[in-house]
Amino acid sequence: MNYPSIILKPKRSESIRRKHPWVFSGAISKVILSEEDTITEGDLVQVCNYEEKCIGIGHFGEGSIAVRILSFKEELIDVNFWVKKIKTAYKLRESLGFVSNEPTSTFRLVHAEGDGLPGLIIDIYNKVAVVQAHSLGMAKALDDIANALKQVFGNKLEAVYSKSAQTLHRQGNKEYTDSFLLGNVDCPQVVLENSLKFEIDWITGQKTGFFIDQRENRKLLQRYVKGKKVLNTFCYSGGFSIYALAAEAKLVHSVDTSEKAIELTDRNIHLNFDKAVNHKSFTQDTFSFLSETEETYDVIILDPPAYAKSKSAKHKAVQGYKFLNEKAMRIINAGGFLMTFSCSQVIDRKLFEDTITAAAISAKRNIKILHHLSQPADHPVNIFHPEGEYLKGLVLYIES
Ligand code: SAH
Repeated sequence: MNYPSIILKPKRSESIRRKHPWVFSGAISKVILSEEDTITEGDLVQVCNYEEKCIGIGHFGEGSIAVRILSFKEELIDVNFWVKKIKTAYKLRESLGFVSNEPTSTFRLVHAEGDGLPGLIIDIYNKVAVVQAHSLGMAKALDDIANALKQVFGNKLEAVYSKSAQTLHRQGNKEYTDSFLLGNVDCPQVVLENSLKFEIDWITGQKTGFFIDQRENRKLLQRYVKGKKVLNTFCYSGGFSIYALAAEAKLVHSVDTSEKAIELTDRNIHLNFDKAVNHKSFTQDTFSFLSETEETYDVIILDPPAYAKSKSAKHKAVQGYKFLNEKAMRIINAGGFLMTFSCSQVIDRKLFEDTITAAAISAKRNIKILHHLSQPADHPVNIFHPEGEYLKGLVLYIES
């Protein structure tokens, strides 16, 4: 192999042997370069054990994660490699029923470590693949990835768009801009999710354009809303609101601080319901809305953005989740339901559920847990990388 070698300290290759895909900088004993070589962020490297035997190939990074492993054997990372990996991810989505699925034309094709591709997200919207590189190594591979996508999808794919600039800029790589890597189609487009319509603007929207990860939780909400008054906070494109209205909720209120999100919610409501439905949206902070509202609700959805993006922010995040949930629990009508989420990776399920318990104690309500929620199957978790389980949720029954 022609890649520079990263030699690990004795006993530090154990986690790689167990197929955990990260090498921390503290595990490195030395770097072997050929004379003219240097090694920079995003380069492909081979990772070797202390005996200098290659145990994986990955992308080099300058942070605390020094290598993100792409392959646990000695192999060339070329377009054939990307075709093989994308085919594997595609095959799983095909088994899950997402390929050529009429009522649902959007799904996640590649979920980073969950699909053995750390630093890479690919979401499918009709015939468009929106690719997000979260590392410089993945950014450098984008053209190969786009070509591999075309090879795997054939005429099921018209365009590939890279929506990586924001994430890469945050890491200091300012030279990247968002653009089509292949083809060129109109944006926004309307996709279907369980036969409901959503406008997706992958260019200016949040993330790749849509929160695909809440599909099954939105569907579950439909069981609890018929004839009920529903409050959907942190609504973004109004996903939960539209599912609630489709399931005959009596009234739905949607709240988001972003004016663009509220405009998008309103457009999505009009896309789905031509008659006047009982919906109202509010461009407002959820905390102030919960404090000020004079309406009473039977069902509240809390789906805030990640409060903790790093371990150091964990404590403050826990306080935030407790405060928010306690506020919602206090105002829900007896016999009502709270659907509450955290998408912070550093808050694990136990900590999240303990925090919700603490909120329930403070709110002095009588509460039962009905469902433990997670991310859907097109956002798989690599069993050797449990950190990949980021979405946690609960459905609570507020008995009295
Ligand atoms: N539930 C949504 C996704 C939520 S993403 C879905 O199913 O698609 C989080 C949203 O919270 C973003 O749209 C963001 O604009 C909004 N947001 C962030 N802070 C907020 C706050 N304090 N009050 C209300 N909305 C907020």
